[in-house]
Amino acid sequence: MDPFEVVVVGAGLAGLAAAGELGRRRRVLVLEAGTRAGGKVETIRRDDGVHERGALFAFDPAWIPFPVDAGELELEDRPIGLSLDGRLIRGDTVAACLGATGADILESMSVGCYLGSPSPQAPMIGAALSRALNAFFRVIHPGDLAEYVPARRRDALVRHDAAHFRHGNGALVQAFLDHFGAEVRTGRRVTRLSVETDGVTVGWRGAHGDEQAQAERVVVATPAREALELLGGLDGPATRFLRSVRYGRGIAVVLGLADAELEPLSYVVSADGTVNTFVFHHAARTPGLTVLTAYIVAERAAAVWEHGDHEIAALVREQLNALGIGAVPAAKVRWSDVRRWPEVGPIVSQAAYGDFSPACLHPAPRIVLAGDYTWWDGAQMPYGMQAAILSGRRAAALVGEGAGALPTPGSRLAPLAVSLVTRLTDAGPLVKDSVRDGTIAFYGLLLTAAPDPGIEQYLLGEAEDGLWAYQQGYGVTALDSALVMEGLLASGRHAALLETSAARLVDEFFDADDGGFRTLPHGSHGRAPYWEGTDCPATAFCAWLLSRIAPARYAAECAAAAAYLRRRQSLSGEWPGQWFPSRTIPAFYAVRLLATSGAESAAACRRAGLWLRSRQDEDGSWTGAVIETSAALLALAALGGHDEVVARGRDWLARRRGGAGWPGEPILHYWFEEAGARTYYHTADAGRITSAWATRALREAPRRA
Ligand SMILES: Cc1cc2nc3c(=O)[nH]c(=O)nc-3n(C[C@H](O)[C@H](O)[C@H](O)COP(=O)(O)OP(=O)(O)OC[C@H]3O[C@@H](n4cnc5c(N)ncnc54)[C@H](O)[C@@H]3O)c2cc1C
Repeated sequence: MDPFEVVVVGAGLAGLAAAGELGRRRRVLVLEAGTRAGGKVETIRRDDGVHERGALFAFDPAWIPFPVDAGELELEDRPIGLSLDGRLIRGDTVAACLGATGADILESMSVGCYLGSPSPQAPMIGAALSRALNAFFRVIHPGDLAEYVPARRRDALVRHDAAHFRHGNGALVQAFLDHFGAEVRTGRRVTRLSVETDGVTVGWRGAHGDEQAQAERVVVATPAREALELLGGLDGPATRFLRSVRYGRGIAVVLGLADAELEPLSYVVSADGTVNTFVFHHAARTPGLTVLTAYIVAERAAAVWEHGDHEIAALVREQLNALGIGAVPAAKVRWSDVRRWPEVGPIVSQAAYGDFSPACLHPAPRIVLAGDYTWWDGAQMPYGMQAAILSGRRAAALVGEGAGALPTPGSRLAPLAVSLVTRLTDAGPLVKDSVRDGTIAFYGLLLTAAPDPGIEQYLLGEAEDGLWAYQQGYGVTALDSALVMEGLLASGRHAALLETSAARLVDEFFDADDGGFRTLPHGSHGRAPYWEGTDCPATAFCAWLLSRIAPARYAAECAAAAAYLRRRQSLSGEWPGQWFPSRTIPAFYAVRLLATSGAESAAACRRAGLWLRSRQDEDGSWTGAVIETSAALLALAALGGHDEVVARGRDWLARRRGGAGWPGEPILHYWFEEAGARTYYHTADAGRITSAWATRALREAPRRA
């Protein structure tokens, strides 16, 4: 029999995604130990609807490169709750719940430091607050907060989107199976991988005894422990990594409750008792049915692991009744389902992930690892459906398939800009070079003009602990991060990541003394002295993002930023900005924030409006430039009430459009200083950025009445 080009071990989402990339053009065999594909995605169909025994919250269809019919998305946007010492605290955000725990101000301020600190100790946080944080952390992590790397500890502050699809996450698994031509054989546990010079022998045990096949390459898409069993004989960074990954266990208990009159909540975390998290789904298909999923993880799961299903379901009902959100007598439990998971997900500890490098994905020349736990570059979430899918797609690329522009750390999309590099010498300017650059931040701007799941995934892969750079290797800045965050915000997804990024913006760039945001992270130095300190566009852009992502939490920073901008506005009504070769971009960012920051900013807005109007040319443009005109139109749209001026600008912009969009214009300028000499970068759009500005302006600025 001909050898398979690729054998994929494990038909969880990672294995299916790898096979999905490869199976269209390669001869691929997928071997799955269980009786079904899907791994930790396990949707159960019942007459009264579907419920999830594994991955619960809705997957994001943008991750999948083909359509998935998962049915309607049902949102659960009710308040969340924290059960602490017998008391139930309700709120719309985690911060609101924590704020109501009675923690004193010093403690609350310490939370941010603790979550970002490399030390696992939390000396300033009292026991109750620490338990509350852990309770929120365990909505998705099956381990103790203190065990995790700082990049993940902030997940404790994330309010999760408890939305779910009507047909369940199983639709995703089915879509993968329907989509690709690879052969999936279930009930086959792979027991042996022997790497030889010309291929790999894959041995497995199934209903017909032991069998084997030859493969040119193998993707091992099982959890770490199983991968280690298969590769244990090998040594190197990959097997050392596999040895260090520990998992937390968990039990998912699902109850179908008929006519239970429960207070409407999205989910409740509990710092006490057996259950860690209760998630409520109000199943639309059957009126009166509430599907309640209770998670019991880590040491609490260990304590009841050996109990009977009936006993565990009864414990859950008891704790539910004790919450004080309504009583559920046994007669209202229409059905119950208990599923034990020995390995819910990895504990993202320094010991396991501290030395992670791309070499950890290659245990041997012909073998590549996939699986949610491998999706890590210091900031990614090495857990969850998205991580699993992306890791599978990356593995497909690594075994040699040209899988297109993959959203993986290290892969790159095309540069969006061209920089002319000039040395400014006493004898005059000396043109040194022309380089293609701009591989990250301006992709965020493109997303604000048009959705693009490929770009979204790429940007997610380029995050450096929730922040972004202008391009790989440049280091993160406030404005580059803001450009990407605005793009991700426009996509309407990624709420959890954006909350983390918002916290990082404040930690790294906010200067509480003058109320502004710096361009560079605290403690870092610029390539020239003028890079340091706060500036108007960074302040306006960052504060606006905070006001969109978590307005209540960042009210103080937003108010300080508005005051900063009022102080820095010139008498004529404009704002200084050093990065963009534009006068209207700083105005757009400033008025977008000030227009929503209350009566105190009304005079500043009026002055800005007058200044913008005064700069419009006869032909309706601002200096005959597309970006300048677009930013002016967006600024006036944010201010409102300049319809005639806006309409003339729109007409000019629409007339400037060519067959391939709008011609590229300058987008950035800056210089470096070394030994007193200056190297000046004048950066122009290579074709897409100017069009993105214009597309956005035409969409957001009002049409002529
Ligand atoms: C209770 C629970 C709730 C969750 N909730 C969410 C959520 O809300 N959102 C979210 O994004 N994620 C959630 N997750 C996590 C998500 O389900 C996983 O991250 C993801 O499904 C992992 O996919 P994977 O392919 O990496 O691994 P798995 O799904 O574990 O797949 C590995 C596959 O390999 C097979 N296998 C193992 N050994 C062998 C062998 N020797 N030979 C052949 N096959 C083998 C296994 O049977 C399995 O099918 C949840 C998980 C659990 C358990």
